[in-house]
Amino acid sequence: MASGIAYKQAKLAETWDAIVIGSGIGGLTAAVLLGAHAGKRVLVLERHFEAGGFTHTFHRPGYEWDVGLHYIGQMQDERSAVRRAFDHVTAGRVKWQPMPDVYDRILIEGRTFNFAAGLERFREGLRKSFPGESRAIDRYISAVKACNRASGLYYAEKAVPAPAATLAGGLMRMPYMRWARQTTREVLESLTVNRELIGVLAAQWGDYGLPPGKSSFAAHATIVAHYFDGASYPAGGAGAIAAAMVPQIEFAGGAVVSSAEVTGILLDGATAVGVRMSDGREFRSGLVLSDAGAANTFERLLPPNLPALDSLRLRLRRLQPSTAHVSLYVGLSKSDAALGLQGTNLWVYPSFDHDGNVERFARDIDAPLPGVYLSFPSAKDPDFELRHPGKSTVEAITMLPYAAFDRWEDTRWKRRGGEYGEFKDQLAARLLAELKRQAPSVIDNIAYTELSTPLTTRHFMNYAHGEIYGVASTPDRFLTRELGARTPIRGLYLTGQDASSLGVVGALYGGVIAASAATGKSLFSVVSKPRDAKACTAHAELALPLSESFGSRTGMHLTGKSMVHESLDGGTHVSLDRQTNCDRTSCE
Ligand SMILES: Cc1cc2nc3c(=O)[nH]c(=O)nc-3n(C[C@H](O)[C@H](O)[C@H](O)COP(=O)(O)OP(=O)(O)OC[C@H]3O[C@@H](n4cnc5c(N)ncnc54)[C@H](O)[C@@H]3O)c2cc1C
Repeated sequence: MASGIAYKQAKLAETWDAIVIGSGIGGLTAAVLLGAHAGKRVLVLERHFEAGGFTHTFHRPGYEWDVGLHYIGQMQDERSAVRRAFDHVTAGRVKWQPMPDVYDRILIEGRTFNFAAGLERFREGLRKSFPGESRAIDRYISAVKACNRASGLYYAEKAVPAPAATLAGGLMRMPYMRWARQTTREVLESLTVNRELIGVLAAQWGDYGLPPGKSSFAAHATIVAHYFDGASYPAGGAGAIAAAMVPQIEFAGGAVVSSAEVTGILLDGATAVGVRMSDGREFRSGLVLSDAGAANTFERLLPPNLPALDSLRLRLRRLQPSTAHVSLYVGLSKSDAALGLQGTNLWVYPSFDHDGNVERFARDIDAPLPGVYLSFPSAKDPDFELRHPGKSTVEAITMLPYAAFDRWEDTRWKRRGGEYGEFKDQLAARLLAELKRQAPSVIDNIAYTELSTPLTTRHFMNYAHGEIYGVASTPDRFLTRELGARTPIRGLYLTGQDASSLGVVGALYGGVIAASAATGKSLFSVVSKPRDAKACTAHAELALPLSESFGSRTGMHLTGKSMVHESLDGGTHVSLDRQTNCDRTSCE
């Protein structure tokens, strides 16, 4: 949909105001903000032939699927900070279609649990399923809210200038650390001994890629609260997001270039001065932002012997990559309406013990799949029928360790050999069998299937271990202070999911953090404003010392709604208003 310009055809200047490596939502967000709020001409270099990173759309004749976006929370309310941020970076050009009221359906051991939009409905649904657990359920929801409330300063610290972070960083991080250092299981077990309730509360673990015994409660709380009010899907598919963002970058004098692989970041001492491409060409800029992930940026794009990176590399090597996955892309020969398919996501698990399910499968690939996630993208997209009349699509996914595929790591795409093909066929058949069990109307209407593997993710997305969420969201990740926008290399910033948190919204805020850190402007408040608040335009351009603007607020929000409201009600407006004599009501 939005491939930018192809590198081979592009006539590109040698020098740019900023260069962004990778065009995921984190890279595009940083580029849009640098263009719009710092007047920078930004060159975005993407090695894939399509822009958008995990938000690009994957096509086969007659069909298309999203590769890394199945649902987004906090978009239904146009006044939510997340929606405003999305509208800001996409110029309001993406139409968000609400998912069905029941956005996630959990199926475990013959029981069904519906997660319905609205926190009170979510709470009531759980109470009905677990009548004796009302107190635990209330305490759980309070814990999720408290954790998210504590996240604001933690993320703000990632964008403030290094001296401010050195001075106040520990204090800013402390409240969140209380939660983040605990695993999801530790927190849930402190609330209830009911194994089934724990299994249901943790049933969205695929959204952050680690079962409850391994994941930080911070990741869990961010994701579950993200969906409390329901979920949405971009009309036109995930590719609509990059399609809306690329023109904004171009409007500011920048360019988004596809099939353009960066092989190194050019340095002058410990200062970034540009990038080198796979064909040896060099582009120059004193500002380089990387959306290619922490592992690529620090281990592959920078020279091995760089004392400035010693301690960062040491810390990063202790962290694990996030989970890998296989995804079966299914094309159906009839429409969703004809097949009775709805947009609700299905999560199917062999037992309530997610850690046990994952461990069993890691030991024995023939053990039951640790969970199957079924998504119905065409049913979520109101425009799909216009583009592909009389057809529909499904994605069937399971998480698995990269190790299941690493023996084919050195083979070439499309030439990985018969054994690889057989292994793929087995996994595809298992995923298809689950789809047929859960949605029998697809039987006899399956026109196309194709399985992607962790090696597909490695080949196309450049994640060495097929990881889909960057660095794994363990407690250690949150304790690793080095993961943020600032880097030990002057002029180099990290953006995307590793700079902040996983997920499309997490990566988008990674772009906000990176652009804020790179410009010294408080862009959080800028992207949280309504787009049509003309009276606030001057403020949007206002450069505040980050330490002042961040220090006065607790609400830099990532995805927890409560944080958004704290942000809007708290220091953000107050500090801006005081400096500009703004009529506060015109900002609402
Ligand atoms: C199967 C799946 C389902 C998901 N579902 C959801 C969901 O429903 N909701 C949600 O919020 N999130 C979901 N996610 C997660 C979400 O897609 C990611 O967290 C997010 O998109 C990451 O964005 P990013 O900007 O950090 O990086 P990416 O999207 O990973 O983009 C990084 C880009 O950098 C490029 N790159 C890497 N190296 C180089 C180089 N050397 N030179 C040039 N370019 C380079 C890559 O090609 C890539 O395009 C899902 C992910 C997957 C895989």
